[in-house]
Order: sequence, then C-alpha cells, then structure tokens
Amino acid sequence: MGLTVFTGGTVVIEAGREGAVITSHAVAFEGGRVAAVGAEAAALASRDGAEVVDLAGGTLVPGIGDGHAHPVLGGLEAAGPRVREASDLDGVIAAVGAGRREHPEAAWIVGASYDATFAPGGLFDAHWLDAVTGDTPTILRAWDYHTAWVNSAALAAGGITAETPDPALGRIVRRADGSPLGTLQEAAANDFIAETVPRFSLEDRVAAIEAATRAYAAQGTTWVQDAWVDPADVDTYLAAAEAGRLHTRVNLAFRADPAHWREQVAEFSRLRAGIRELGHSRLSAETIKFFVDGVIESHTAALTEPYADRPDDRGLPNWGADELTAAALAFDAAGFQLHLHAIGDAANRIALDALATATAQNPPRERNHVVAHVAMLAPGDAERFAELGVIANFEPYWAQCDAVMRDLTIPHIGHDREGWQYLIGSVLRGGATVSFGSDWPVTTQDWRPAFATAVTRHSHLEPGADAWLPEERITAGEALAAYTVGIARQAGAQDRGTLAVGMAADAAWLSADPLTVDPNTIPGIDVRGTWIGGERVHGTS
Ligand SMILES: [Zn+2]
Repeated sequence: MGLTVFTGGTVVIEAGREGAVITSHAVAFEGGRVAAVGAEAAALASRDGAEVVDLAGGTLVPGIGDGHAHPVLGGLEAAGPRVREASDLDGVIAAVGAGRREHPEAAWIVGASYDATFAPGGLFDAHWLDAVTGDTPTILRAWDYHTAWVNSAALAAGGITAETPDPALGRIVRRADGSPLGTLQEAAANDFIAETVPRFSLEDRVAAIEAATRAYAAQGTTWVQDAWVDPADVDTYLAAAEAGRLHTRVNLAFRADPAHWREQVAEFSRLRAGIRELGHSRLSAETIKFFVDGVIESHTAALTEPYADRPDDRGLPNWGADELTAAALAFDAAGFQLHLHAIGDAANRIALDALATATAQNPPRERNHVVAHVAMLAPGDAERFAELGVIANFEPYWAQCDAVMRDLTIPHIGHDREGWQYLIGSVLRGGATVSFGSDWPVTTQDWRPAFATAVTRHSHLEPGADAWLPEERITAGEALAAYTVGIARQAGAQDRGTLAVGMAADAAWLSADPLTVDPNTIPGIDVRGTWIGGERVHGTS
C-alpha cells in the first residue's frame, strides 16, 4: 500500500472513551498503517509518488464499526419483495403481490421485513396474504426478526395445524378454534425457516454479503459484527472473502443452541481454527452468540417482574441461569468472546451473572465479552458493566420514543419501568466500555441517524422534539468513541479505533465534522471516502 497524505481539513486522531477528542490537520498512511500525523504527515505530501487527498474542509475519522448486525439477512432482504418501504398493511400486501408478478416462477416468496405495528398486537392473518399469493407458499419476517407471518400455503407446507403443539421456546399464534392464525413467534418462526423454507443458493448469499458490505463501505463502516451465523453460513463468508467480495471487515458469531451447546464447543472451535488458518485480513470468527431472551413487543423478553398488561407473564427466557452459566464457562474456557442478546432486565441480569462467573472461575485473560442491546436494566445493574469489564453494545437508534416504544413497548412494561431503558449515559458514567451497533435489518444500517439519536434522544426528523430520558444523552465525542475505540475493543483489535501512528489505516472521510455540527444534521453528512488497511474501498481518488 503506497503513501497517502490527507490535508485540507480536520483529522480526528482519537475520540477517547470519555469523549475527549484529539485532532490534527494532517495524517499519512503507508503500508496499510498510519505513518505520521500533523506537520510530519503534511511534509510527506511532497514526496515522489505520494497521493494527496484534499479533505476540502471535511473531516477524516477513524473507521466506524457496527457492533451488532445481520448483513446476510440485510442483503437478502434488499433482494426480495420491497416490503420494508410499505407504510401500512395494504402496502405490505401490495409489495408481496408485485414481487409475485415479477417472479411468477418462484416456488416460494420469502421477504422482509414488515412493520409489526400495522396490525393490532402485531398479529397478522394468513388469509390477508392468501389474497395476493394464491397457492405460492409465502413467509415474511417482521422487523424484529423474531417473528414471521406466513400464508395458508406455507402453513400447509410446514404441516402446521390446530393439533401442532407450540415448540419449547416459541408460540404459534392461534384463532379461537385453535387453528394457526399465520403469525409465528421466536422458535416457531426460526424452526419453520430452518426446516420448511428452501435455503437461498450460495451465489444469492454471497451476492447478499457483497451488497451489504458495499453499502457499509459507502457509509464509512469498516468493521461489522455479524451477530448470528450458523455453521452453513461460514462457507458463504469464505467464498465471499476468497473472491474479494468482502468490502468491510466482518467478525462472525456462532449461535449457541440451548439444547446442543455441549457438542457445539468443539464444532465452533474447529470452524474458528479454519478461518484463523486462512489468515484473511477481513474475516474472523471469534465469537459465540447467545439469545438470552426475545423481544418486549412479543412478550418474550425476560423481566424480573411481570408484564404490565399480563400479570402472570415474565416473558420467555431461552436459557435458564444455570445452563447459561455452564455454557458461558465452557465457551469462555475455549477462548471465545461471548456476545449475549439481552433485552429484559432479567435477561441482562442473568447475562451479567454468567459473565461474572466465567471471569471469576476461568484463568485470567483479556476478555471482551459483550451484552448486546441492553434494552432494560433494573436499578443498580448499570454499574455492573464497569465492575465486570463487560462491554455494553447499544443500538442507539432505539433510544427514542417512536411508534414502537409508544405502542408496543411502554404498554407492555408500564410507565413505572419506562425509565429503565437504554441507559447509555448511566452505563458510560459508570466507567464501562460502550460500543454501538445497528441490528440491521431490524433497524437502519446507517450509523448517522443512530449517532444523532444517541446525542439527542429523539428522531433527527423532528429537530424540535423533547429528548426522551434526557439524562441518558451523551456527547458527540462519546458517541464517536462508541463507534470507534469502543468497537475496537469489542473487535479485540488493539491496532484499530484511532488514527495514531502505527494503527491500521481504517478511516472515513466525512463532508462535515459530526463533533461540531448540529446533531440533527449528522444524518445529512456525506461520506466521501472509506479506507481499510490503507486501501480505498469507497469513493474515487
Ligand atoms: Zn440482532
């Protein structure tokens, strides 16, 4: 990698975890690393063969990371019927009908993702789809990706009838007579997808990864945590990496199955060894994913006290505390990073307890375990992240009082617990490492609106709105730190996250400085270029 010198704007060398920012007026990359900063870097611009990038008053920041996302699902979603763009139930149904007309030969219609607020209680009826799909089996995932809506032909293909029992960790929503309505929750949805819906071809999946990582590169994102892969997905990533079709760095997380995790320790260790051996600079598989619970909208998030609208229901944890601890001990002992999906306050508590035990009982080592989402924390639990050295991965776009929060979340948990949600400021002030992510395609892939929401606690589309839980706002410097140094720790990459001399040359060139502009305008910042290890992956020179 040759010499590239950046001048003519602001260079953010480092956004420290506490929000302290170090800037310069120039930086130079050489051999894939930061070679010099400041006057020394500027002086290199006159060297023979140097490429000089005039930042044109813009800002170069360390490469942005996405600490929790589903790139394959996101890429496949973009290739299917355009359900996501619909603004109401009729729009979803029309998009499915249009998809069927475009691909009359398709044996199945597989699409995502619909807005679950379009039907009361998030309950969708198979008959609504039948009208436009006829006999073609059809499955749509909801935007939480924990729920699916199927038509009558799909129910028949899966053999789901009034007699079919609910699976252990899922629900088949039923009509009054016991027959399936068409909405499948949690394991009922996942099992159906795994067992009944035909798998996408290898080329479709590689193309999905390529499209997803290109889109990431175009927004300045240089590292992504794929938060759920199954062993069969590894081949897809290997094929993408070997064909030069990975346009960001990606780390894979294997999903631990509550029923089979004991056999998985050796299987996942073997898959990790294969990827380490390949030594590809953009692909790693160092992480184990646990779904500790589900989501609040479906009453499947695990709460310490019952749901406000269901006095006997504390949710549907996927793991008992003892089994989770045993699995955490085993995977931690095998040297994996643990990444635990936790939404409800009970799920966050058992996740932290399991990580505390693994850290205390296994030999000391550098651990970068993650609790992801951290949607609800009971009083006192915010401080535990720092005490235990656990990274809190938040999806800051969710930290606003939007329709989901107002219509599906607060009615389920009640106003008493409204203020227990997305305690980003509290966790950060407790001294913990915070990293940010998108959970795309659950919500937008784009870090810019999410960054703005972390700072304002409202939508950037309503610049005059009140901040929701304003004491949990953070500064723009702290938000950039979560997307850079916080992500680097999550990635276990000591040579990334800043643009100090010697660090990997991962960077994004922005048209404006997100640290100084009105935060409501951050989503409008253009990304003019992206570099990974000194190689330009977006924008032309
Ligand atoms: Zn996720």
